Amino acid sequence: MVDKQKVRYQLQEIERMNPCKQINLMEVCGTHTHAIGKSGLRQLLPQNINLISGPGCPVCVTDDWEIESYLDLARQGRVIIATFGDLLKVPGTRGSLADARGDGIRVSVVYSPLEALTLAQNNPTAEVVFLGAGFETTTPVVAMSVLEAKERGLKNYSVFSMHKLVPPALAALLEDKEVNVDGFILPGHVSTIIGQEPYQFLSRDYGKGGVIAGFEPEDILETVGMLLAQMNQGEPAIKIQYHRGMAPEGNAVAREAAAKVFTPEDARWRGLGLLPESGLRLRREYERFDAKAKFGLPQVPPTAVKVQPGCACGEILKGIKKPHQCRSFGRACTPMEPVGPCMVSSEGTCAAYYRYAEYQ
Ligand code: SF4
Repeated sequence: MVDKQKVRYQLQEIERMNPCKQINLMEVCGTHTHAIGKSGLRQLLPQNINLISGPGCPVCVTDDWEIESYLDLARQGRVIIATFGDLLKVPGTRGSLADARGDGIRVSVVYSPLEALTLAQNNPTAEVVFLGAGFETTTPVVAMSVLEAKERGLKNYSVFSMHKLVPPALAALLEDKEVNVDGFILPGHVSTIIGQEPYQFLSRDYGKGGVIAGFEPEDILETVGMLLAQMNQGEPAIKIQYHRGMAPEGNAVAREAAAKVFTPEDARWRGLGLLPESGLRLRREYERFDAKAKFGLPQVPPTAVKVQPGCACGEILKGIKKPHQCRSFGRACTPMEPVGPCMVSSEGTCAAYYRYAEYQ
């Protein structure tokens, strides 16, 4: 239940601190984008405070070559694909996983990688491949599924890792001349794992402030206020608004589980390109659980593959375009018939703008 009195007070404070020039604040996380749309915060804030969405939806940032690669594997019919529902309708050149399933290919929607593990155990003559797409929040539980598979002696379970790391993407945005961000609304969920420290470079090296935010409208407004206060004082810093959800040092146990199984590698992001050490692959000692190694799938290609030429998802993930500036938005591209992943995923920016009819 929104505390209307608090919201009114927060908006007055924002108005009081308003520097009356264009301020671009990027909400990095797709969950924040949806919370902002649902509560109508964009319309409530002063017009010069521009909330722009960033690369915080894991399905959206998954590059086309990875999508083509797992779709090819699925269509070979050699494996059961286990996936979160969000990837089901992401289109490739020959349709999506949902289309493949319609053609009789075995695709199973799971709610956790441990469920995929059970699927493998129950189908000992089949190979089960779990599609791992997610940020630092998701990797520990995927790592635990690999450790558990090893413990149980399962030989028919593997992970197709598309995992990505948030800090390198923020660095890439700030190196990009097209991108214009004054401060960051940082992701609460990712930060519960990585803590505050990995963002320090934002203020130290780039002079940009960041506040780790919770997901209620009051949290987001307080965060905007904290960022404006930093700007007015000329003291960019990394602060936490989401104290109730995280410890400043993050979760070391979860990080250790992830680091035991995964190691950083260069990864290609939609919109951002090939970023050094921004993805995760399975360590050599867990290679038998690595679907890319097990099935001889291609490694990161030197050049980008572009499957949906009319889709502006890449620019939207960098915050240089808003969804309604894509000519397909709401016409050729809707959640019922999505053209690009930013409309498919429940965390996607285009899906949020469509759902909450946002045109600013
Ligand atoms: Fe891509 Fe559709 Fe978003 Fe346009 S509206 S950028 S086509 S996902």
